[in-house]
This record gives sequence, structure tokens and C-alpha cells, in this order.
Amino acid sequence: MHTYTPHLTRFKMWSPVAISVELRLYSEGVDGKVVARYNLEVAGEGWWRLNVYQDLKGLFYTYRVQTAEGWLDETTGVFATAVGVNGMRAAIVDLAATNPDGWEQDQRPPVCSPVIYELHHRDFSISHSSGVRNKGRFLALTERGTRSPEGLPTGIDHLVELGVTHVQLLPSFDFSSIDETQKNVPHYNWGYDPQNYNVPEGSYATDANTPEVRIKEFKLMVKALHDAGLRVILDVVYNHVANVANSAFERTVPGYFFRHRTDGSLANGSGCGNETASEQPMMRHFIVESVAFWAKEYHIDGFRFDLMALHDRQTMQAVVDRLCEIDSSICVYGEGWAAETPLLPAAQCMTKKNIHKVKGLAAFGDELRDALRGPFYDDTKGGFLFGNRSTLPLLKLGLAGMVYYPELGNSGLSAWAKSPLQVLSYVSCHDDLCLVDRLRAVSPQLFDEEVARLSLLAHTAVLTAQGTPFLFAGEELLRQKRGVRNSYRSVDTVNAIDWRSKAKHFGVFTYLRRLIEMRKAHPAFRLTTAAQVKKYLHFLDVGDACTVAFTLNGKAVGDAWGRIVVVLNAERKAVDVCVPEGDYTVVCRDGRVQLSNREHEVRTAFSAPPQSALIAWSST
Ligand code: CA
Repeated sequence: MHTYTPHLTRFKMWSPVAISVELRLYSEGVDGKVVARYNLEVAGEGWWRLNVYQDLKGLFYTYRVQTAEGWLDETTGVFATAVGVNGMRAAIVDLAATNPDGWEQDQRPPVCSPVIYELHHRDFSISHSSGVRNKGRFLALTERGTRSPEGLPTGIDHLVELGVTHVQLLPSFDFSSIDETQKNVPHYNWGYDPQNYNVPEGSYATDANTPEVRIKEFKLMVKALHDAGLRVILDVVYNHVANVANSAFERTVPGYFFRHRTDGSLANGSGCGNETASEQPMMRHFIVESVAFWAKEYHIDGFRFDLMALHDRQTMQAVVDRLCEIDSSICVYGEGWAAETPLLPAAQCMTKKNIHKVKGLAAFGDELRDALRGPFYDDTKGGFLFGNRSTLPLLKLGLAGMVYYPELGNSGLSAWAKSPLQVLSYVSCHDDLCLVDRLRAVSPQLFDEEVARLSLLAHTAVLTAQGTPFLFAGEELLRQKRGVRNSYRSVDTVNAIDWRSKAKHFGVFTYLRRLIEMRKAHPAFRLTTAAQVKKYLHFLDVGDACTVAFTLNGKAVGDAWGRIVVVLNAERKAVDVCVPEGDYTVVCRDGRVQLSNREHEVRTAFSAPPQSALIAWSST
């Protein structure tokens, strides 16, 4: 890493195995000749440092490490904060000079009821129908007033209208799979192939050759989202790198940053050819300081850890603690699993099962997802949405925010969260089939209307579940991905959100928008402790129907709705559900949400229409 001032640039790197370290300065980000070479000085405990008393702004650099075995290849160093095109050389920039106007006044928007929205830069804006100028770029998320061909809000305006509170960006750090020099060639990748962790990806910038541009545009994006009241979460992928041999880690301290099997081969819990070793003190230090850098330099508000089970608990605790020092409202969550078994004792892995041991950390609740749509391992198997009653216990556990509730009994299911704040409720994300494709994969003969009804039913479960709701971008427009399960490098026609769908499925969009509004207004949907769930969430007896019904005691948590009844009916027929006697107001029925309804119905039972949700409240 380097620290720049006009009269002095300080360089610092860690390599205890080095016998010498050379710094090479270049005038270009690729090619061109070395303009100067320096040797770093030993600084103790494996650190090397160098002060160059010149104005080096605009130059590029690499390190070369010499070990007892010889010279390693050139590297940017593990903590490069700016790079040239394709991330081959680090760049000397004045980070302060990249700050957009008003950056010092930029603030994290207040949030009391988070709703996370996961998007990929290119998916979100590349279609002509987005009306966005900077299609597929960071700057797409700075544009206001963008409209679909039908005149409906797109881009940021759409997010504001929908009412989500956090935008989770698919990998936006520098990844290796896209050639940044081919600016006008259509290219696509999710970006789970990390190269430089502390630099924004060049292909999302308007100019990948000028190192400051991607940094400034990233900050403009964060500021515009903040100004719109939206928080920004980065998807971070510290669990593996794109290519070990080319990685800054391996070219700095060979072997140190990765786990190896006893035969010396690379462990592969990521399924991508390697797994990093978070238990190594300097790898842990790197992860902790990397997220801290994004939180401070880029004002990032949260982190989604990819394959978090590959990291050890101590590291994730350190991440949470470090971010909490910066701002206690920064959120941290991740995938509580790995692709393959990690080379780390199970008790240390940051799996869902261990999540209760790390306060302030959350994980994805794939139980709710699988209960609703069907299992991960077979796209043609259906869950609750298809009338599969065997998923009801799992669905209830998901609705309860993955904490113990009395009806759970000895079902054998694991209530892994210590509080509902530790779980993200969702039915789809960038991985696997999107919801519409999954519905059709299970049941190809579904009518369009049925697909819409079942989508609304699924999203009602997500938005009435305890925990933090998480939506995959475009689901509110009944997005389709042509049945492609792993679209990580598919063409735009598979991945792009078609904004014309907003007019076509405006009823679906409106339904979700109103449910989000309802959730934000009613704390009963956002219980904060397992004890509250146990006391205030009660499942109702619905006989043998593929239906779930529950009540929430709103009064106990200061909710204006004293008692709330939610019925999720997956049957193709109406189902009668007995409820506590009361004077009810129905706000959601048969695929429509009407929060302003004032009509009263004195009830001891409701008839829940087929394949839809019913939500009613009474004052007591
Ligand atoms: Ca890149």
C-alpha cells in the first residue's frame, strides 16, 4: 500500500520471507518502461517500507519480492487502493482528490426497518428500456428521473418508489474475468473472481485507464444512493481469489494466505480452486482492514460475505467489532455455508450453526427459500408454493426468523439464530433460478396468472417473516432469466432486467411496494429477540391444508395494529381458517394490498382465497 502527499509517498508491505523487496515505478498502467527502481528497507516483524521524497502522483508501481528460492513475479501488493487497467499495476493517486463535491457531508441514511435489494450493475441498467444513460456502470446509480418506455420510474427512482432501504451490489471490487480494455464489447460476469480487493472494478467505470475515474465514480454512486435515502452494501469475496499464482497474496508470501491439504495441494472449499486462510493472522488482518477501508474511504454501509463458512469465527467477530468501532449501524452478514467442506475444524467455521456465537452477525436463511420454492438440489421439486405440505415445519421456522418457537417441538429442525436479527429472509437471489423460472421449472404448465399469484404469495412470506427481508432485483417485475440457473457469465438477454415489465406487471410491483410500506410501519413484523417471537408469534391450526396462518401480538410491541393475522394459502382452493374472535380490517386479500382500508369485519374465521395471502388486523 502507499500513502501519498505531494512531497512524499510512503510505501509499506509485509513479507517475512523476503530477503529483499524492489519497488518499480512505471509511467503507464500496462506496458511501457520502468522509470525508477528502489529497494525497500526492513521495518521489523516482516514489514518493509520506503519513503520517496518526490511527487509521484500519476505513476504506477509494482513490488518484486526476492526469497531464498529466488525472485517472485511482480505484484500490486495485497493492499493496493488504486490500479491501472486490468489491475496489473498499482497506481499512485491522491485519494482525497477523488472525493466528489459534498463528500465530507455525506451521511449514512437512517434506517429502522431494513429491506435489502440485491442488484448487479449490468442487469439493472443495461437494457434500453432502463432509460439510463450510463448503462451497466457505477454512474447508472447516480441518475435520477430515469423512466421506462411507458414513463414509469426506473433506476434509483424505482428503488425509492419500491421503498427498499439497502442496495446490495454484486462484486464491485476489481475482478479479473472482464478485459477492461475492451470498453465497448458486451461482456458479463458476476465478478466472483477477485483480483484487487480494495479497488473498484474498472469495467463499471467510464474510463478504466485513468485510476482516479473508477474511484471517483464509485463515490459518486454511493453519494447519490445516500442522497436518495438508500444504504449501500458490498458483496465481498475474501474466501478465494481468481488465480492463486497471479495473486498479490502468493506473490508476496507464497503459501501463507491459502489453506493447503497435507499433500501440499490447495484446499478448495470455495469450489473455485482455492480457499484463503482467514485463521492466519495477516489474512485476518487483511480482511478486517479491507472492510474498514471500504467503510471509511467509500462510506459503505454493510458487507455481504460470500461463502462465509470458509472464514473462521474469530475473523468474523473481528470484522464485526472493527466495523462497529466505525459505525455500529454497519451491517454484516453472509452465506453460512461453503461450496465444499472447508479445511478448518467445523467448530471454527462461520456456518449458520455457529452464527449464534457471533453477536451482530447474520446469515441467509435458505430454509425459508427452500420451504417456499423447493430444495436447492433439484429445480423440478416444488415446496410449499406447489402444495407440498412436508415443507410446512421448515416454512414456519423461516417465518419465525430461525429462532425457537413452541410449535417447533422435536421436529429435528435447527433453530440456528439467537435472534431474528441474525437471519435474512428470502426466496431468491442471484444464484440459482430466479423465482419465475423456478416456478416454471417445477410446473411448466402454470398459467401466467398463477405464476404472478404464487410470486406474490412467496414475497408475502418473505415480507411478513421475522428477520431481515432480502429481495433479488427485478422480482418485483416478475423478472425471468430464460431458465438459466447459473447466469454468472450469460449474455444480457438472459440477465438484463426488462423495464417494460414494470407496466406489464404493475399490480405485482404495487403489491410489493405496499407490503414493504406495511412492514416499515409495523414493528410486529420486526421482533428483535427470540423471547418476543416465542411470546408474540403464534401459529394457528389450519387442519390438513397446505396453508400457514399465524397471529402477531402487535400491542405488546407498541404496534398500532393490536393483533395481526397472516394467512398464506398455497391451496388451489379457498381455505377456512379459524382466528381469535375480533373486529378485523383486511389489508391484503386475493393478490391485492389496501393499507388504507377502513372496513370492519367481525370474525371468528376467514376464508383465505386460493394461492394467495390474507392479512388482517384488529385493534385488540
Ligand atoms: Ca477488473
